[in-house]
Amino acid sequence: MSERLVVIGGDATGMSAASQARRMKDASALEIVVFERGRFTSYSACGIPYWVGGQVADRDALIARTPEEHRSRDIDLRLHTEVVEIDVDGARVRYRDRESGAPAWLSYDHLVIATGARPLRPSLPGIDANGVHGVQALDDGQALLETLEQARGNRAVVVGAGYIGVEMAEALIRRGYDVTMVNRGAEPMSTLDPDMGALVRDAMCGMGIKVVGDADVSEIRTGDDGRVAAVVTDTAEYPADVVVLGIGVRPETDLARAAGLPLGQRGGLRTDLAMRVRGHENVWAGGDCVEVLDLVSGRERHIPLGTHANKHGQIIGANIGGGYAVFPGVVGTAVSKVCELEVARTGLREKDARAAGLQYVTVTVESTNRAGYYPDAAPMTVKMLAERFTGRLLGAQIVGQEGAGKRVDIAAVALTARMTVEQMTMLDLGYAPPFSPVWDPVLVAARKAVTAVRERG
Ligand SMILES: Cc1cc2nc3c(=O)[nH]c(=O)nc-3n(C[C@H](O)[C@H](O)[C@H](O)COP(=O)(O)OP(=O)(O)OC[C@H]3O[C@@H](n4cnc5c(N)ncnc54)[C@H](O)[C@@H]3O)c2cc1C
Repeated sequence: MSERLVVIGGDATGMSAASQARRMKDASALEIVVFERGRFTSYSACGIPYWVGGQVADRDALIARTPEEHRSRDIDLRLHTEVVEIDVDGARVRYRDRESGAPAWLSYDHLVIATGARPLRPSLPGIDANGVHGVQALDDGQALLETLEQARGNRAVVVGAGYIGVEMAEALIRRGYDVTMVNRGAEPMSTLDPDMGALVRDAMCGMGIKVVGDADVSEIRTGDDGRVAAVVTDTAEYPADVVVLGIGVRPETDLARAAGLPLGQRGGLRTDLAMRVRGHENVWAGGDCVEVLDLVSGRERHIPLGTHANKHGQIIGANIGGGYAVFPGVVGTAVSKVCELEVARTGLREKDARAAGLQYVTVTVESTNRAGYYPDAAPMTVKMLAERFTGRLLGAQIVGQEGAGKRVDIAAVALTARMTVEQMTMLDLGYAPPFSPVWDPVLVAARKAVTAVRERG
């Protein structure tokens, strides 16, 4: 007899799970129904800054697979349809067509919760004014582009200096805007240590972006026409024709909470390694709505990234399809860029290491992305953390020009393998002058960390 899989959320996690399950079981064995409250499926929110910035020509380029393509693979995809309740005991969901408003129940044998994350939107005066935009979904990108086309001036304020804020600052610079970035923390990119964040700030200032730290936004001021006019902080006011919010997200788990499913300290669903919601045999969850195991600190964290969401979906689909797959956890790797500057991190920051009760040493090296004599060699900085007595690598952060950022993957692999910095020094990395100095900057940092461990150990 056929089973039914119900998926809530039709983007990275949900459609990966549905597609993988379909690869493993055909429609006679598994009926698959996906509810998506929006208009799109399998879209890349990650590409929105590059679409807004003009590097990506149009919205459709960001859609990996259309609803029609999914339907042609026997996936019953219901757009504009929101799940409003999960009845775990009855193994059913209540859904509502957003156009007709008609509610109905559908039972399931397997449920996948792939509801993503919700952008933070502080309740400030003026926050809903025309010209204030978030950038979470494709419709947000479209709305922002329309505002940019109609805006009378060219002053943009980005609120928040995480990677989305930084990427949006680049997009707005590329469109000829005067950009001010207002941030609550002292330095941009709080996923880095402040000394590395300061390098990002200096480079952004060099690009003509005004970077304001230690600032709390208290109001979005509007003009007589109801449009945004300025961003007001506790100490100053920044004129704005458009405002972009990039102040973070929280897991979209209201439905799960109401259903009594287990949530972690950050509000994300708690799963086992197979991505099954803890204590619930036939309920699965992945992507931005779950917490993940940090393999370096051993703690559960909420790290909303597409790279995890796609893997989670594939693992869930494989398990529902009758296979066996597990997600071991993450080491916290992320890379982004603002104009020519690449910014990357993996593992623990100093404050994470302290919070985990670890004793550590840090080293920072200045090197170049290519051999120093090779044309266009540019500076790059690598910071590395190692455990004080054991020399185990704890984390790495990189700021530099072309080719710098993805070098963080070397450290990500070393963290996953629980390597010491000493073991790292002999890694057999590729070398030729156009790509790196003969000692890659990551290896130089590892060598310096070995010395620091010996001196402090
Ligand atoms: C601007 C931007 C840039 C990014 N850049 C990167 C990057 O460079 N690298 C990276 O790794 N990650 C990046 N990300 C993060 C990445 O996009 C997310 O981690 C990923 O999309 C999460 O996938 P998901 O399927 O878990 O959630 P989502 O993509 O958020 O999908 C969840 C879906 O569920 C639907 N939904 C929610 N509730 C319901 C309901 N009750 N009923 C029906 N449908 C529902 C939503 O409409 C949504 O379509 C970026 C995100 C943004 C916004």
